[in-house]
Amino acid sequence: MRTLRWNTLGGALVVAALTCVQSGRTAPESSNIERLQQLEPGIVAFVARCDDDVVKRGRGLTDAEAALAREVGVAHPERVRILVAPDFPEPDDPQLAQFLDRLGPAHPVAETTGYGIQLTLRVATSRRILLHELTHVGQIERLGAEGFWHAYLVELVTVGYWHSTFEEEARDNEHR
Ligand SMILES: [Zn+2]
Repeated sequence: MRTLRWNTLGGALVVAALTCVQSGRTAPESSNIERLQQLEPGIVAFVARCDDDVVKRGRGLTDAEAALAREVGVAHPERVRILVAPDFPEPDDPQLAQFLDRLGPAHPVAETTGYGIQLTLRVATSRRILLHELTHVGQIERLGAEGFWHAYLVELVTVGYWHSTFEEEARDNEHR
């Protein structure tokens, strides 16, 4: 869901891997899946609240942006809202916050939560980032929010952000 600088993510994954080695765990992926099963309902609810907020406060797409949205598979560009804000919301539950921080890197620049897209100021006019995030909007439309977040989170804990098929599709669409 978040567009990240890959070098930061690489660093986060290396740190996570080292942490697992140091704690003597041989199967970090399966423990992450168990953790995901416990936390997923809370994550889905948190993302839904974030999306409501962005949809309420964000702006609609211009005609040119709506055309880009259609190009990357969004069925309802008229529902998309964009909010530019300096920080992304964090879950109140420290367990959720820690889990999401561990899977995702520290410096996201954009985040899609449904029809809501939140952008930081530095990427507010980036066509590339918009195409990336609009691709996620289309993915969420196709799978439904719960279906998408389940599949997305499972990929995050198994193959990781960079190899997620959802992120691969979004990256492929960045230069259209
Ligand atoms: Zn993405």
